[in-house]
Amino acid sequence: MDYTAKIARHVASIPRSGIRDFFELVQGRDDVISLGVGEPDFVTPWHIREAAIYSLEKGQTTYTSNLGLLSLRKSISKYVSGFFDVNYDPAKEVLVTVGVSEAIDIALRALLNPGEEVIYHEPCYVSYSPSIVMAHGVAVAVETTKEDGFSLKPEALEKVITPKSRILMLNFPTNPTGSVASNEDLEGIAKLAIKHDLIVLTDEIYSELRYDGIQHVSIASLPGMKERTILMHGFSKAFAMTGFRLGYACAPQPIIEAMMKIHQYSMLCAPIMSQNAAIEALENGGPQMLMMKESYHQRRDFLVKRFNEIGLDCHTPGGAFYVFPDIRKTGLSSKEFAMGLLEAESVAAVPGSAFGSSGEGFLRCCYATGMEDLRKAMESIERFVSKI
Ligand code: PLP
Repeated sequence: MDYTAKIARHVASIPRSGIRDFFELVQGRDDVISLGVGEPDFVTPWHIREAAIYSLEKGQTTYTSNLGLLSLRKSISKYVSGFFDVNYDPAKEVLVTVGVSEAIDIALRALLNPGEEVIYHEPCYVSYSPSIVMAHGVAVAVETTKEDGFSLKPEALEKVITPKSRILMLNFPTNPTGSVASNEDLEGIAKLAIKHDLIVLTDEIYSELRYDGIQHVSIASLPGMKERTILMHGFSKAFAMTGFRLGYACAPQPIIEAMMKIHQYSMLCAPIMSQNAAIEALENGGPQMLMMKESYHQRRDFLVKRFNEIGLDCHTPGGAFYVFPDIRKTGLSSKEFAMGLLEAESVAAVPGSAFGSSGEGFLRCCYATGMEDLRKAMESIERFVSKI
């Protein structure tokens, strides 16, 4: 059978994730040090795992409300109010999702009509453009540059806004660059969103992981923004809970209602044991999270220093757990560099081009990897670069 004709055209048009392609090469090789997948090297703190175990032990193996357990939504609302300074009604304005991944997908599907434009800043997380296309939208990337600290500048945003623009997607701190937006830029972006009547999807999954005393400001907390913003957050990164597959969206009730329709028919609800673990994370997970953050901070400082010593210019990212050194000096493309490094030194890092064309010339290195491995990886990178 000719399956090409059987696959929906918009799905066939989506390329496979550059990260996955690269990591298929690495799979099954235990000699490789991976600075690749954006996943904490910490196991989920024990008290959080225990909450999931208790949940099973008590026989809590059922569906929950489509919106998620009310007790979890109350904890989320309290946490978001304290951390982001925005108040959401747990009964109507919070939806528990299967990771931020699901929140992104259903938000786009709930809001977009075919052909409407979604603007996002690039380099960006690999799912943004495909998620927009899968929701029948048109993906419009605004390139950001190293010189601007990979932050979205309001002037650059304004240039791409058209009458078809419906949604603006933001991600600060950013995967893959670790960039954070200045308050001034965020205010400028908010003004444009209001002026052009855009809905803002803000993916704040790395918001706890900021360094050097940088305060996190959510665009949802700026004047006039709560009513047009979907704030998305989750447990994967700061609480080291990737496998629990849990996230949430906070937004005005009509938007949550529309997202919930898709969620209830496609997902029904998030797993109950993960939801119980998430309550424990929010209520008592602060100290362990700060301990992990402190460790990431030290690793970031080490990597930035070593890349600059090697001669690969590396800006100091304000957040997340990635560095994004500039490898253009070597004359190699980011894919050639990453493949060469893997072959010669068995170190895996992701070519910047996997995060959009503006990532070309850079390498994403995730430092959610033990310090010993980071030391070895940097020695290998130094040797590799010296031979070019
Ligand atoms: N958003 C960003 C920016 C990410 O980097 C990731 C994962 O790497 C996700 C969303 C997916 O998160 P989740 O595990 O909550 O689905």
